[in-house]
Amino acid sequence: MKQCYLCGEELIKNKNKSKDHVPPSCIFPPDKLSNLITVPCCKKCNKEYEQLDERMRNYFAILAGDKSGIVGQIAKRAILESGKLRELFLSYTKEHPTLIDDIGNQRLVFYFNDDELKTWLIRVVRGVSYYINKKRISDTAIYKLFIYPKLIPQPSDTFPMEKGLEFRPYFVSGVIQELNNDFWVLIFYDKLIFSVSIDACD
Ligand SMILES: [Zn+2]
Repeated sequence: MKQCYLCGEELIKNKNKSKDHVPPSCIFPPDKLSNLITVPCCKKCNKEYEQLDERMRNYFAILAGDKSGIVGQIAKRAILESGKLRELFLSYTKEHPTLIDDIGNQRLVFYFNDDELKTWLIRVVRGVSYYINKKRISDTAIYKLFIYPKLIPQPSDTFPMEKGLEFRPYFVSGVIQELNNDFWVLIFYDKLIFSVSIDACD
């Protein structure tokens, strides 16, 4: 029996069965989509994340700048050129004061919505974990999120990762496993580094 990696619902062909890309395909450029990983997912859960995926892609692209390559250029251009999209994008960020830089120009500041970021990262971890371990993370698991604001030049030296997935430079993940406790490291665009620790997982 195949289960949705998120809600655990039994998946039935031609009814509720679908596949989810982890991480979502929108963070990769169009020419890199052929070998991304997928996990079984119900249609409802799959649909639920569409807009969040786009927002996260846009945040990441803007934060990672040049490192996000073609994906970033598309996202950045879309946001800067479309007033409507920009307004929508900003409405999902936290308060966003403008800063004046050292030569007197106004600079717009984007903030992550922490809850959205957390929701999104946990879902990516649940997806890669399902893919590697072939089972769902327990619904009672407790997640802790860490954000590494500074660029770490050689992430793989800093975090000795055991099992993991690599689609450099767009996404790298790995897990450090301890007894009853996993520590996942996720890196996007070789620049944005997050980790999610999972306590009390089965
Ligand atoms: Zn589901």
